[in-house]
Amino acid sequence: MPITKTLASLTDNLEFAAYRPRILIVDDQVINIQALNQIFARDHEVFMATSGQSALDFCRKTPPDLILLDVIMPGMDGLEVCTQLKQEELTADIPVLFVTAQNDANEESRALMAGGMDFISKPVNPDVVRARVHTHVTLKLQRDLLKQLVFTDPLTGLANRRNFDQAIDKEWRHCQRNGKSLAVLMIDIDCFKQYNDTYGHLQGDTCLQAVAACLQAGFRRPHDIVARYGGEEFICLMPECELQSAISKAASVLRTITDQAIPHSSTKVSDSNIVTLSIGVAATVPGDQLSIAELIAKADQKLYEAKQAGRNRVGA
Ligand code: GH3
Ligand code: MG
Ligand code: MG
Repeated sequence: MPITKTLASLTDNLEFAAYRPRILIVDDQVINIQALNQIFARDHEVFMATSGQSALDFCRKTPPDLILLDVIMPGMDGLEVCTQLKQEELTADIPVLFVTAQNDANEESRALMAGGMDFISKPVNPDVVRARVHTHVTLKLQRDLLKQLVFTDPLTGLANRRNFDQAIDKEWRHCQRNGKSLAVLMIDIDCFKQYNDTYGHLQGDTCLQAVAACLQAGFRRPHDIVARYGGEEFICLMPECELQSAISKAASVLRTITDQAIPHSSTKVSDSNIVTLSIGVAATVPGDQLSIAELIAKADQKLYEAKQAGRNRVGA
């Protein structure tokens, strides 16, 4: 699909979505918050903070879609809040609209330099502030949606290869700093070509979705990542995980799939007529011996050995 068409359909989806954008209003004067709340309460989820610090705390816990931020506040002022938000990965992309009683170009330019998207004067005109917020929230939601599309495998909803490559880079550095082991599981569906040949490609897709959902449900630690690596191959990243724990985890993943008992009448796995997996496991403390590429290649080699040894097993 051409990119312009894709963007147009994204906008349409957003226009019709029932989603209520989450807005944080920050002002030391409660009366100012109330005035803005009246404008947005009907079709937005509105949150309030009366100090810079509480605004930062809120954003780090539950990042909103947009912040209306007072410039002059006792303690940490709006410029400082904005500067800090822009420095942190989790909050850097939240659009900040400054709201201020001051009306001079210097102030405005400092606000924009701090990373503010826009500048609104008090007393606010409801129509103006509503229109500006609508524009910036729409752009923010479009960015979120594009990011999601770029990093997600459309068939299974899992992280895609690009997402995995970024994640392993980050977790590699994290484990290196802390001297912790990083484990990788390379997972491949057994005899999946036969599955497609027997049940058809569409049923094959449904099987991939079922396996993906099962894998996703099995990795619950916040930094674990399950991704679709290629056709019927998946990869799991387990930071701060030793080889032995990763092997146990892989064995339990095999069981959760066989528990599903998805029929596979033409599998070559002996004594089986259901869908099974083979898994290769490798782990290393980053910086010790292997590079990222070598760690993945090792998991791949162990997967190959599991296939050679008869499939439906863990290689390590
Ligand atoms: P092995 O046990 O050695 O892994 O054998 P296999 O048949 O699973 O492996 P092979 O690499 O020979 O075949 C993989 C099959 O996966 C072939 C391909 O058509 C199928 N496949 C890859 N991506 C998709 C997909 O998105 N949907 C469906 N339905 N099938 C897919
Ligand atoms: Mg396979
Ligand atoms: Mg394969």
